[in-house]
Amino acid sequence: MVKRDYYEVLGVPKHATLNDIKKAYRKLAIKYHPDKNPKNQKKAEEKFKEAAEAYEVLSNDKKKQRYDKFGHTGMKGSYTNMNMDDIFTNFGDIFADAFGSGFTTGSFSFGKHSRNETIMKGSNLRIRVKLSLEEIATGISKTIKVLKMKIADGLKFIQCKFCNGTGQKIRITNTILGKMQTATQCNICDGIGKQIENIPYGANKYGLIQKEEVVNIKIPAGLTEGIQLKVSGKGNDAPFNGISGDLIILIEELPHSKFKREGSNLHYNLYISFSDAVLGVYKEIPTLNGKARIKIASGTQSGKTLRLKNKGIPKIEGYGIGSLFIHVNVWTPKKMNEEQKQFFEKMRKNENFLPPTNSSVKSFFDYVRDIFS
Ligand SMILES: [Zn+2]
Repeated sequence: MVKRDYYEVLGVPKHATLNDIKKAYRKLAIKYHPDKNPKNQKKAEEKFKEAAEAYEVLSNDKKKQRYDKFGHTGMKGSYTNMNMDDIFTNFGDIFADAFGSGFTTGSFSFGKHSRNETIMKGSNLRIRVKLSLEEIATGISKTIKVLKMKIADGLKFIQCKFCNGTGQKIRITNTILGKMQTATQCNICDGIGKQIENIPYGANKYGLIQKEEVVNIKIPAGLTEGIQLKVSGKGNDAPFNGISGDLIILIEELPHSKFKREGSNLHYNLYISFSDAVLGVYKEIPTLNGKARIKIASGTQSGKTLRLKNKGIPKIEGYGIGSLFIHVNVWTPKKMNEEQKQFFEKMRKNENFLPPTNSSVKSFFDYVRDIFS
């Protein structure tokens, strides 16, 4: 299916304000809400998701700028593949008026579906995962242990005795206009209408208990420090069989003993002897997944940079691999015997040993420019 332009999806011009974008999205969300389209639910859900994706990008300054510049090709990986629950969680404020109340209390969030049923969402869990450059280069599957709130075994739910399962407390007051009825949320069951009959030992009043769980996560190649991955539904459980929260994985990069990373490129410092610089040599250098043999030409100057293509880190957008830059440093001997000293003494004034005085010598900055042009 050809992806439609986000502006076209929301029906707003390119210069639309955030408010316009919000309004347009709300209109579409109400129109295509699956509950309002029972006869054509599948199609409506597609339209609903398409609008949510467009809204996610266009309502975010950074993402919008990127989209304006590169279109859909620039957006790979920068919007979340949302399911319906995510859409309600992420853009709950938009739906607040459209579909009833949505509010957060404590560590759970509550949202009202249009079927007038309160659903609780578990809180998100955050963990840090440290990755080596090798792991970042290839991507990796990891098995991690998380300590999370889970629904205790053998819970029995009963109707809330205080609100008779309605989730509301009705108060009738006498006014000069007659009897007036006001409804507030039941504060015993938090509007759920259910209570737990037998709270197991160690569990909290929602029947949740802290437990260790093993989660398998797939980490794609090319991530950078500070990126967050979301694993839907692997966070804390929600009480009363609601929707579990998400597991948020914060990526940390371990420093490498040999390479310095810069985006998708790697840098390596190579030291060669004075003689090798003069005569030329083949050198074996480490790469992230093995070794490479490189040729150092005779007469190589200190500060020269060599480039090995495709020996860096895969680019996160999925297009290509960075380079490994090898910075050549010539090691000047510090200790010499008499014979060696005499040799260099003789060469001191030799024109082959003198740097040229004209401007044809490339400066360090010229080298760098060469590489990146
Ligand atoms: Zn109640």
